[in-house]
Amino acid sequence: MTVDYERMLDRALRLRKQLPSGRYAPSPSGPLHLGNARTALLAWLQARLAGARFVMRIEDLDRSRVRPGCAKQMLDDLRWMGLEWDEGPDVGGKTGPYEQSVRDDFYVAALSRLRDARKIFPCFCSRKDIQQAASAPHGSDGPIYPGTCRKRDLGSEEKGRRSAALRYRVSAGTIEVEDVVTGPIVQNLGRDVGDFVVRRSDGIFAYQLAVVVDDALMGITDVVRGVDLRESTPRQIALLNALDLPMPRYWHIPLMVDGDGNRMSKRDGSEAVMTFRARGGKPEELVGQLAASVALCPQDTAVSAQELLSAHDLSVFTRTLRNRDAGAG
Ligand code: GLU
Repeated sequence: MTVDYERMLDRALRLRKQLPSGRYAPSPSGPLHLGNARTALLAWLQARLAGARFVMRIEDLDRSRVRPGCAKQMLDDLRWMGLEWDEGPDVGGKTGPYEQSVRDDFYVAALSRLRDARKIFPCFCSRKDIQQAASAPHGSDGPIYPGTCRKRDLGSEEKGRRSAALRYRVSAGTIEVEDVVTGPIVQNLGRDVGDFVVRRSDGIFAYQLAVVVDDALMGITDVVRGVDLRESTPRQIALLNALDLPMPRYWHIPLMVDGDGNRMSKRDGSEAVMTFRARGGKPEELVGQLAASVALCPQDTAVSAQELLSAHDLSVFTRTLRNRDAGAG
């Protein structure tokens, strides 16, 4: 499979030189809610305003969280909103497959590169072990890994009946990356996050590794996603650098909140696009409502995705998102 990885990377590197590419990468763990729909709309708008190719990728790595039929419904909802894509699970394309659950070979190839570079180590700590480690403070993403297994060698990945997770050994120093919308993201991985998991003990590849490999192999130049993933970015940069992959531009956009000011989530049954449709809502109403929430059109405007596209250019779009972000504080 090593050959495939190289060939796909080669193709993606050439593709990046020819044209920009954006993507939307939903996890099919529940119905598409309005917050997801807004992120998808903005990712699509950014790509199309930049004259970019747009890729749809289903992030279904964690099989236990996948809800049957959900991916199909999400794609249907996105199409109903007037979005379209050049490559994706339902339309095919040259950089597929477009479901992470069938891309393990690529992650295995990337992992073997990290292994060769001695960048990963086996770790037997449970979540509880890490939480209980005397000096483990909390970072923005849970407890900071205290380095318990850091000195372990690869090759000792089984202990009795327990399998190890694989962690990336972070380097000292600060990682800084300029986000198009929110400005600089600065993080010291050793201090703020610690060595992080790239493959879980149950064999499932971690989001951090999969996203980096997929974006690179799909030739993605612009990553537009929710600001909840902003703090993950330095981990992704570390992996990109270790794997010698090109870095995309990052656009972290605000998360949509519900009427009570709470973040929308698939689990708590936040308003689903499906529900909006079932009540007889029109795509133009939904697109208008989502666009108005980031000041891309006035309140109470019905507008199609295509009309929204025609009404903007990339610099106004970028400026509006930046102001919006500053306004949101
Ligand atoms: N799959 C993630 C989500 O649905 C998005 C990951 C990304 O855009 O990097 O929240």
